[in-house]
Amino acid sequence: MCLVFCIHGIFSVLIFWSLQNAGDVESTINILNVLDELLSAGTDRRIHYMITKGCSEALLTALVNTGRSFSPNFHLLLPLLHLLAKIGHRDRRIGVKAEDAGAALLTLNLLRQNIKYARRAAACLWVIQVFSSSVSTANLIGENHGLETVYRLIPHFTTKHLHAIKYVYLCSAHVPFLFLSPPTEANVCSVVSKGYVAGLLRLYEDWHAKAVQHGAVAICHSLLRCLHKVTHSTAGRQAFVSQGGIRLLYGTTQTCLLSKDLESLVEPSVQLMRKCLTKTPLPLTSDRSAYSFPMPGRAHAVPTEEDDNEAEDSKEADFDEDLETDLHKLRLRPDPDRPKELLPQYSRLCPELSHDFQVQMYKNANDFILLLWKRDHSNDQFSLNLSPALAQLEARDFHSHRSILNESHHGSMIDRLLEKHGVCIPHHEPKLYRAAAARTKSIPGFSLLAFPDFWGHLPTPGHEPMAPRKPNVQRYKVFEDVQRFLITDGIINQVVFDLEDSSLQCPSDSLRFFSGFECGNLRKAVRVRRWEYDLILNADVNSSQHTQWFYFEVSNMVAEVPYRFNVINCEKSNSQFNYGMQPVLYSVTEALEGRPHWLRTGTEICYFRNHFCPARGRRKTTFYTLTFTITFKHNEDVCYLAYHYPYTYSALTAHLKVLQNSVDPAKVFFQQQVLCCTLAGNPCPAVTITARPASRGWKDMHQVRNRPCIVLTGRVHPGESNASWVMKGTLEFLCSSDPVAQSLREAFVFKLIPMLNPDGVVNGTNRCDLSSEDLNRQWSKPDPVLCPTIYHTKGLLYYLNSIGRTPLVFCDYHGHSRKKNVFLYGCSVKETLWQSGSAVNTVGLKEDPGYRTIPKTLDRLAPAFSFNSCNYLVEKSRSATARVVVWREMGVLRSYTMESTHNGCDQGIYKGLQTGTKELQEMGGKFCHSLLSVTKDVKSLDSQRLIGHIDNDVLDHKSHNCFEDDEPPCVEQIEYSADCPAPNGADLDSDVNANATAADEEEDNDGHGEITSFSAFFFRAQQVDSNENKL
Ligand SMILES: [Zn+2]
Repeated sequence: MCLVFCIHGIFSVLIFWSLQNAGDVESTINILNVLDELLSAGTDRRIHYMITKGCSEALLTALVNTGRSFSPNFHLLLPLLHLLAKIGHRDRRIGVKAEDAGAALLTLNLLRQNIKYARRAAACLWVIQVFSSSVSTANLIGENHGLETVYRLIPHFTTKHLHAIKYVYLCSAHVPFLFLSPPTEANVCSVVSKGYVAGLLRLYEDWHAKAVQHGAVAICHSLLRCLHKVTHSTAGRQAFVSQGGIRLLYGTTQTCLLSKDLESLVEPSVQLMRKCLTKTPLPLTSDRSAYSFPMPGRAHAVPTEEDDNEAEDSKEADFDEDLETDLHKLRLRPDPDRPKELLPQYSRLCPELSHDFQVQMYKNANDFILLLWKRDHSNDQFSLNLSPALAQLEARDFHSHRSILNESHHGSMIDRLLEKHGVCIPHHEPKLYRAAAARTKSIPGFSLLAFPDFWGHLPTPGHEPMAPRKPNVQRYKVFEDVQRFLITDGIINQVVFDLEDSSLQCPSDSLRFFSGFECGNLRKAVRVRRWEYDLILNADVNSSQHTQWFYFEVSNMVAEVPYRFNVINCEKSNSQFNYGMQPVLYSVTEALEGRPHWLRTGTEICYFRNHFCPARGRRKTTFYTLTFTITFKHNEDVCYLAYHYPYTYSALTAHLKVLQNSVDPAKVFFQQQVLCCTLAGNPCPAVTITARPASRGWKDMHQVRNRPCIVLTGRVHPGESNASWVMKGTLEFLCSSDPVAQSLREAFVFKLIPMLNPDGVVNGTNRCDLSSEDLNRQWSKPDPVLCPTIYHTKGLLYYLNSIGRTPLVFCDYHGHSRKKNVFLYGCSVKETLWQSGSAVNTVGLKEDPGYRTIPKTLDRLAPAFSFNSCNYLVEKSRSATARVVVWREMGVLRSYTMESTHNGCDQGIYKGLQTGTKELQEMGGKFCHSLLSVTKDVKSLDSQRLIGHIDNDVLDHKSHNCFEDDEPPCVEQIEYSADCPAPNGADLDSDVNANATAADEEEDNDGHGEITSFSAFFFRAQQVDSNENKL
């Protein structure tokens, strides 16, 4: 091997020397032939070896020597240029070398002088393309009017000169590489001012008309790619629109749809249209939320300017850089955020430590409910919309938002409803719900209930498969959106609902919308066409962003008509709606017929970037459309649509009451307390659950007071209602008579704070609290006034820590909008250092691998859970989240975030199914089951028998390092700003070879002499097209 390279080395040096010093044309051509054969026979490795030996420099010198003469010899120049294109293509420094040798401008001049000669121009073009891989060379060529030269090639792309088609073809595939290189604003302006955009469009129209006949799809592609480059800038887009580009492409695309051969032109055309559609501000007077809340200590509800969203999807690019590699930060505990003296107040949240377990303070559940009902009934502010005159219960009687009816009527209606259907929903009591809701404080002062919260909470019967995606659904939706600009017949564009304008009159044949109830989120509805509506979501309170969650009422529909809905101000860059997820729908008519449950609904669902922009120049300017079509089953039904199964704050408080009254007080110690009050004045519940001691004897009491603690929290992000359903499952399981639950209660004291963000939930925000902060980024130093729930939850944890009762497990329940399955994030020093590739030696580092036990157990027990989606990496950007702070500051080894999908599972027995509330609740129960795996030291528990054995060889699963989408790229482009991909045929090497073997061009030929090779081109173009079709 060594010897071979050594011989090659000497040989190369000899060849390169002769190349630069050869006197006559014949011997130089011979040398070039030898070189070409040597390189074509070998691999890229050989070419790279030659490059290191000075091959590029030798060719460049030869090029300059030959090209400088007054009348250069193209018999020599052509092979030289071809070889240079092939080698330069693989030499990263070719641009700089060309500049040094003075070859860049020389080649540009050769191109100018030979524009009429197809083979020569093509060869020069490729070499310039190769040189332009260096920015400075590209700039140099740009400054020397390279763009004008390249554009001068384009008029030759005219369908009138079909005999020159080979020339056109060879050049066309490569023109876009050079067109607008470098793509500076000045360059674009010059393109626009010279009318090149109009020229390109006309050529496209021309070629497109011939494309079917002549297979010249490649040229159309080339033109589209040039247009893509120009339209990267505002001036280019404006020119495109004013020159009728959208109308032209819309028209040509409709023809393309009819011909399979032209399919490959559709996508680039659609992208161009999307990109160039005039930006339309959202029809709002302000981007700020319709709800504002005066913050304590601030005169007005004006928060600081918002940074770009630090939400779950904010850092995709530099994941590894985000990993914490500072060993001090990973291992050392920071100082507490408050003085010790503030901690004893939290002893009140540990009733199990002081309770005498003597007095039984419970009541019969029914008595309790009745009591509440009577108490709240006297000054009830809530009503369902019930028409007094009706003998039959019908959906429209519950149409809730026109008036608040007097209490004698709705009292009797509710009685009739309950009489007819009975209390059919486990752990849900409608009257109690109503009473709870009456006490809930909201910013707008809600006085109406959404029907599903009152009379719902029943899981969907059966399983719901993910929705199949219709092929090209997004394309057809975009066409409809483009039509709004082109075909204005049938466009209504009328506001039919405005959260801020209750006097708005809605036409009698329009759908009616409403969102003025707990968790509701819909700000505006615009009727676009007869059966199509644009929906605008309300930003988080005191903020102008984070839109995603929606929940609203819709009525006055016609049955069996497909209605298209577009939520036009979504902010995330991708969504599970592109991967089989459907929104949920609840029909009051169906409920009154005995089916009070939500269903996954909607067809033609997709999620893609749109042409809307903020109403007033907000920095973040990208919006996405979620579109779905719904065919309602009943005329004049009252329906509710939501992003996910709603779960209100009032539902939680009512649920806790029901639970408290359902437990067997002889066995279960259940105590509900108030952690603190929120900014809006809602009490944040904290619950303690454990087993009552078997006796009041010293030994039993001692056991109770020394049970390890487990702390579970949830719903810090209001839009993640799935977290509440999982929490509901956990609560119900822990209160149940299941023997595992009994074992767990005997082993642990559970402290649950099921809803860390009640105000956000009540007011329908997606991410934040009233202070417009993401509360899960506040854990490092929570403000006692602005983030009371976080401040006091952390206080409770500090307190437990201070009395030697640090929780064994901490878990914060969340929902994930971009992944499937349920999974955990944990914290591990070693895994973080390994993953980051840190130089820190981890050999001597001791780490208890017990943080993997729970996820491993869940992998076996919980069908929705996926161990492979879990990871245990500590990121800098998440240093202030519950999981990381509780791990680092409180020293809780098993500190987790549990993420539950909004969609469904891609593994296990639920594979291909969307999750319902039943599966989410089941997950909450299974999570409890998995806690048995950490109880092996607790003697009172026969955990082995219950759970089977749990192995400890924990490092057999490799940590998964992906926080972002597990999904493959969406089948259709969600974005539109990316460059249009080059067609499959634009391969420099093969085009160079084709040019090299083509028939010689006569010097005095006027460029029209290639008729003989037309058929060869035609054949090739067809090949290219069929390759594209295969893609
Ligand atoms: Zn979350």
